[in-house]
This record gives sequence, structure tokens and C-alpha cells, in this order.
Amino acid sequence: MRYDDLKRMPKVELHCHLELAFRKSTLRRWALDKGMEVAREEDFDREFLIKAPMDDLPTVLHKFLNTRDVIDTEAKVEQLTFEACEDMFLQSNVRILELRYAPSFLLDAHPTMDADRMLEAILRGMARAEAAYPMVVGLIGLLQRIKSVKDNAYWCDWILEHKAHFVGMDLADDEVSYPAYPFATLFQKAKNQGLGITVHAGEPHVPGAAKNILIALDELGADRIGHGVQAIHDAGVVARLAKDGVPLELCPWSNVLTRAVLDLKSHPFKRLMDAGVRTTLNTDDPGVMDITLTQECENLIQHLNLRLEDLERCNKWARQASFISKQRIQQVWPD
Ligand SMILES: [Zn+2]
Repeated sequence: MRYDDLKRMPKVELHCHLELAFRKSTLRRWALDKGMEVAREEDFDREFLIKAPMDDLPTVLHKFLNTRDVIDTEAKVEQLTFEACEDMFLQSNVRILELRYAPSFLLDAHPTMDADRMLEAILRGMARAEAAYPMVVGLIGLLQRIKSVKDNAYWCDWILEHKAHFVGMDLADDEVSYPAYPFATLFQKAKNQGLGITVHAGEPHVPGAAKNILIALDELGADRIGHGVQAIHDAGVVARLAKDGVPLELCPWSNVLTRAVLDLKSHPFKRLMDAGVRTTLNTDDPGVMDITLTQECENLIQHLNLRLEDLERCNKWARQASFISKQRIQQVWPD
């Protein structure tokens, strides 16, 4: 199959972290402005990109923190947002895009920034992209499970105060050391106020990870699961996902880079799909992981023998599972 055919296929991206969805050329310019020595491409790659399966967490964290240091004003956040949307459209023909971000992530490093002004900057970036391209963009507010319940209660309330601008809420970060259930009340509250719920669960390759998917569904009220790739190791969890039609936001290349799976060939995307699970395809962190959604499609065709029709079916499921209103979706992708 030709790359152009894959690129042309209209797509849905449900799982993309805004802070790590930067355009490389822009981030490099900002890093140079701050005095970082990244004039050579290989220096930039070493400091900011994950190009191969990671060996240790500190090395990866270093890259995340570099990115956070560089995105230090609301004006940059607006540009970051616009370019993340623009690149999704131009490189992959993404028509329906959900971006997620943790208000606390950038604010922790930059006291001069403000949550309300940052949100306004993101919304301006999204609106510019929607005006320029036939796409709709929705925003998911992300809670960090590495923070206390009290901190997250604050951000949950902040998101709900601004819920006109959010389509959903998510829980992210290390699910091994930080279980999800302490945050159940916050997610039930957001669900009751009409937000879509997605939870990072069943991502790392550790014993029992699949069970975290059930906690996300039963305790936090998740409508979709972020990753959920480890479901494959628990037949009961796979059966539950299939029976209830729970969409998985799968991110195969990210799973390879974080060693959640051994390689693309052994990724369970196709096996989950064949078992009746609603699999959707996503990039996770297109900037730092240096990947596009079109390349993700190409990877699955090459390594898992997926056909174009399979990918079209996944996009149909993703379109149905989007938290963006049906009315707005109709404007860019009619029935
Ligand atoms: Zn993620």
C-alpha cells in the first residue's frame, strides 16, 4: 500500500499529550533561544527525543523536563497547540483530534504562568487550527496520579469550573506505584457533570496490570481506557472489554519505546481486535517520540498485516468514542 493512500485516509486521534506533541523545528529554536547547545540535530535529538526503546527512566525524564523548561510562556503554549493540530492535519489528515494536558505540569516549572491564561492560549491555538483546516479539536484535562488527592481535587474542581472548554478528564503517570482508586471520587464527580472519562490503565508490562483496567472501569467510571495493552494477558478482561464495547486508546510505537511490548510484531493490537475489542490507533507523544499517525498506520500494516479496511474500522470506532459533540463532528466528518 502506498504511503499517500494511508496519509489521505481521514483519521481520528484520541490519545495525544499536548506538552509532548511539539513540532521539532520550533522546540529546537526555543531551546537555542534559552542558550541550550542544540545547534546540531543529534544534540537536539539526544536532549529531547526518544528514538529507541528506553533503558532507564531518569534518561527519559530528563527529556520530558527539558521540554517543560523550554515551554515557558503562554504565547509558546498557543503556538505549540496550533502546530500540534496543524501537523496532525497536514501529516495524517486527522479530522477529529482530542488533546490532553495537565495544567499542573507546566505551571509547576513556571510560576509566572497562570492556569486561566494558559487555558485561553490553548483555546486560541485550537480555534486557529479549526479555522484553517477541516478539523475539530477537543480538550481533555489530565490529573497526575503522582500528586496527592488534595492537589488533584484542586485541579479537578478547576477543570469543572471551566468545563465548557473541556470534553473529558484523564488520569496519567505511573500506575504501578500510584493506584487509581484514591481518585475515584474525583472522576465520579467529573462524570456526573458530563465530562467523558478516560484513564491510563494496563500500560506497563508488569504482573496484574490488566486488573487496573477493571478498576478504571468500575471505580472511576472510565468510558475509554488509555492504552489497556496489557489486557491481552487476562482473558477475563478482554471478554469484559469486548462485551461492553469499551474502546482502547492503543499507542503501539509508544508501547515499544517504553518497553510495554517487546516490538511491533508482538504488539497485541490485531489480537485484541480479533477478540472483538474496539481498538483505536493513537500516537501518545508525537513530538518526543518522533512519530505521526500515518506512520503508526504504516507500522501496523507492515508488522501486523492490518489492511486499510481494518484501519478504517478503527477510525469509525474512534469517531464514535470521541468525547467531542456529535454535532461538531458532523461538520467535519458527516455520517
Ligand atoms: Zn498517554
